[in-house]
Amino acid sequence: MTPTDFTIIGGGIAGLATAVALQQKGFNTELFEAAPEIRAVGAGISLAPNALLALRKIGCETAVAEKGHILPAMNIRSSNGAVIMQTNGQRIARKYGAAHYAIHRAGLHEALLSQLRSPAVFTGKRAIGARVEGAAVVVQFQDGSEHEARALILADGIHSPIRRQLLPGSTTRYAGYTCWRAVIQYDGPIPEEASETWGPRGRFGIVPLGGNLIYWFACKSAPENDTHYKNFTVEDLYAHFQSYHSPIPEIIRQTADADLLWNDIIDLNPINQYAFGPMVLIGDAAHATTPNMGQGACQAIEDAVVLAEILGNNKDTAAAFQQFEQNRLKRTHYVVNRSWAMGKVAQAEHPLLGALRNTLFRLLPASFSEKQLKVLYEIEF
Ligand SMILES: Cc1cc2nc3c(=O)[nH]c(=O)nc-3n(C[C@H](O)[C@H](O)[C@H](O)COP(=O)(O)OP(=O)(O)OC[C@H]3O[C@@H](n4cnc5c(N)ncnc54)[C@H](O)[C@@H]3O)c2cc1C
Repeated sequence: MTPTDFTIIGGGIAGLATAVALQQKGFNTELFEAAPEIRAVGAGISLAPNALLALRKIGCETAVAEKGHILPAMNIRSSNGAVIMQTNGQRIARKYGAAHYAIHRAGLHEALLSQLRSPAVFTGKRAIGARVEGAAVVVQFQDGSEHEARALILADGIHSPIRRQLLPGSTTRYAGYTCWRAVIQYDGPIPEEASETWGPRGRFGIVPLGGNLIYWFACKSAPENDTHYKNFTVEDLYAHFQSYHSPIPEIIRQTADADLLWNDIIDLNPINQYAFGPMVLIGDAAHATTPNMGQGACQAIEDAVVLAEILGNNKDTAAAFQQFEQNRLKRTHYVVNRSWAMGKVAQAEHPLLGALRNTLFRLLPASFSEKQLKVLYEIEF
């Protein structure tokens, strides 16, 4: 048997992309996933050019693009439908060399899995702790079993138990708004653009996924874990957003309660350490962000590519993990902090403040958003 070079904990976007990236560098990996099968949880997701460039580097761009849908434009609107800010997807694609895609999460998972040759994937294995023993790391699982690894890549999401063990002070924080989402088959004219509507009753996002599929999300300021909102039905959401421009009320009306996903929006308070000797944190386990910039998964995919590149050039794993940390801390902190701040602005539901914000955004020069996009999309791997 070939010895395993790297053991990955978590089969989400970060774990799968890392398995593919390491495979491409000739490493043997094994992956342990808590769920009974490798399956995406959630609705749709948008993948910005930086994610597509990273996927290109690991040979996954075509597989993802085949299941995804190119977004020709991304607009911010006010509740009456007036455009407050426009982003031209085609121009961005020309400028940065990759398009902005939307994809069903299940499609992204399938695309990544399809690129794995003979993957050693073990499901139903929830890691609960790890200890360093000599040159090895021993992982403890909830089922009572243990597994010896040479090096551990922790890709087990925002609630990573081993991160909590390594950094007992690491905490999640509630962003102050709660979120519903769904993917539906929409019987009506499908908008070409992706849009986010900012109004006094909260935010509503519409993302076409191709064909008649639409991914939508709604965010509303609320106390944390609030029972009233937790139990919201489609009918409640319709009543809440019915004054918003078309097709928002129609989209909500065509959603089944069974397809509604709800969760409070949280992130991980930025941490300053990703590397711990033979262990490294990646993806949401290291830098979970609020979804306001649509960059959480994009950064997880970047992590995978950067980590594999560094490991491919460095035989000392602990030193390579350190180098990864140095390479990724600043950029991922930028995303987490900026996204947090953007959420505060976008979620302002006070009518006067909201009107002022919308007016200001309408007056902002295009160079304002261009600068942010440049930081995110102008990247070489
Ligand atoms: C509402 C919302 C919308 C978003 N929209 C976007 C978007 O449009 N674009 C974008 O780029 N990002 C978006 N994100 C962020 C994105 O979903 C995450 O950043 C991304 O899923 C992180 O991937 P991950 O693999 O690091 O973590 P996860 O997706 O959390 O995957 C972790 C995996 O590890 C497994 N696991 C958990 N614990 C254990 C354990 N103890 N042992 C073993 N396995 C374990 C889980 O079952 C899961 O499979 C959004 C997030 C939210 C909440």
